[in-house]
Amino acid sequence: MPGVRRKSSMVLRLVSETSLVSFSDRNDMWVWDGSPDGRFVQNSLWEAIRPWSERVPWAKWMDNGCVFCSGVKSQDHLFFHCCYSAQVWRLVLQKLKAYRGGLVWQEERKWCIRNLGGKFLKRRLMRVAFMCTVYTIWQEWNSRVFGGTPVSVDLIYHKVVSIVHDIACSWRGVKRTKVNWEISLEWSLSHCIFSPS
Ligand SMILES: [Zn+2]
Repeated sequence: MPGVRRKSSMVLRLVSETSLVSFSDRNDMWVWDGSPDGRFVQNSLWEAIRPWSERVPWAKWMDNGCVFCSGVKSQDHLFFHCCYSAQVWRLVLQKLKAYRGGLVWQEERKWCIRNLGGKFLKRRLMRVAFMCTVYTIWQEWNSRVFGGTPVSVDLIYHKVVSIVHDIACSWRGVKRTKVNWEISLEWSLSHCIFSPS
């Protein structure tokens, strides 16, 4: 009878396996399966439940060039010199009516510190636009590294404008001058930003 034979072989296997187990007088205790020593720790719980995805080939993309244009990767290239970043800057600077070229990270940093202080509306806009552009380019870079769908220069530009617009609309007490009024029209800013008088 095949069923009986199978059961007897299972019993034999069980006997041979349990014969190697030693018993002690100590009480049984709960053992956490997720850590090597059986003790429960939060990290091991997180490791047990966290979502796992395919490993990122860090070495592969670190060695590769620019994700936008395959050029040589560097800070200046990524944020300013890359044809992708340069197009975003061109559009943002046009919107700010600031016509400049040849941006370099260290020089830009110094220029911003020197020229973008104070509460003038245009300076404040330029300050925010600078940070938003750098941040948005960096975001797009990361997205592409992790396999995200590439976003066009135009969409990145509109994203920057939208963020700057939203931040600027929360400002208050801006002086009612002709220049500021023109800037507010260019950026479609709410009239609430102006001081009452
Ligand atoms: Zn590039």
